[in-house]
Amino acid sequence: MKPMGPIPPAFAGQRGALTIGGHDAAALVAEHGAPLFVYDAALVAAQVTRFRTAVPGVDLHYAIKANPLPALLERIAPLVDGLDVASGGELAHALAVKPGAGISFAGPGKRDEELAAAIAAGATINLESAGEAYRALAAGDRLGIVPRVAVRVNPDMELRGSGMKMGGRPSPFGIDAEQAAAVVRAVIAGGADWRGFHIYAGSQALDAGAVIETQAATLALAARLAEEAGAVPPLVNLGGGFGVPYFAGDEALDVAAVGAALGERLAARADVLRDSRFAIELGRWLVAEAGVYLTRVVDVKDSRGERFVVVDGGLHHQLAASGNFGTVVRRNYPLAVASRMGAAAEGEVSVVGCLCTPLDRLGDRVALPEIAVGETIAIFLAGAYGATASPTAFLGHPAPAEVVV
Ligand SMILES: *Cc1c(COP(=O)(O)O)cnc(C)c1O
Repeated sequence: MKPMGPIPPAFAGQRGALTIGGHDAAALVAEHGAPLFVYDAALVAAQVTRFRTAVPGVDLHYAIKANPLPALLERIAPLVDGLDVASGGELAHALAVKPGAGISFAGPGKRDEELAAAIAAGATINLESAGEAYRALAAGDRLGIVPRVAVRVNPDMELRGSGMKMGGRPSPFGIDAEQAAAVVRAVIAGGADWRGFHIYAGSQALDAGAVIETQAATLALAARLAEEAGAVPPLVNLGGGFGVPYFAGDEALDVAAVGAALGERLAARADVLRDSRFAIELGRWLVAEAGVYLTRVVDVKDSRGERFVVVDGGLHHQLAASGNFGTVVRRNYPLAVASRMGAAAEGEVSVVGCLCTPLDRLGDRVALPEIAVGETIAIFLAGAYGATASPTAFLGHPAPAEVVV
């Protein structure tokens, strides 16, 4: 038997039939079909409230690549101060729900058309290189619009314990800290509206101490660069990296501790940052726990002493749960039989998807209650990096349905 991660708090205490936002999971499947992603907007709103309480006075941005579903964006946009996008396509989604002034655009390889679209919309471009800075200035000249730009810094430190390290090394992301001040001076001299710094040091951190340490180093770096550039950044985007517990042994990030420490650091910040605003940008922490992937059992088979529960979904919809999206060791996401929440386990099964690849394993030797063909399996933590971070075209199965409740 292999352990599963913890079922998120909103669902962990449920007994009997699983409900999501007050809706019976089986009824949702009957209405929308399966496989189905269900997102509970009230849980996202509760996370926003948790952030506001813990980290007062700091802007909250939503990094929409975690989940760009338009129906969900509509619900999140009014709750947050900004949307961070990473492509022209995401920019279009964001502009449908937020004015351009509330949007920032990061990511390497922005094409000239994407830069132009961002400038025309009044969005802030987080510059990833000196070359991109010159292309943004040129695009602004062509359009006759002053471009809003911030300098994304490739920091000289990284977020300790982070699932995905983004700093402290050669990187396609951001301008090396050693060159950042020179680029700030160049864009200001070139007539751009310089909006400040964007410093992103990592992702999926659960250790409050590591986040606190990184935020302190980020603040110090922003102050040093502002001094060097001789300019006050209107906004310092401190990055994000708040993680969620996916696996056995993971514990929720202590956001209150992070907020308290950041509050103290901000109160004592360097004079050059006295008039700056600050922002934190979060993806998965806001949406991951609000989503559940529901998939139906098509077959139950025994093979050489192991029982396989074969479902109609798989890694083509929820790649991350199969362990093939940026994890080194495959571990089990939390899952449950939707009709029997809280029931005692009856045996060990492997839950496998319908794709012809041994990689398509959603639960590896997990302990679950008795399962029959036709029943629904719920895979939790499906609100971030699910449908749009999975190879949905692989093997030609239909795309999953997605619904916000
Ligand atoms: C992906 C990304 C995020 C969101 O990361 P999460 O781990 O989902 O919070 C935020 N900012 C940038 C620059 C990113 O690339």
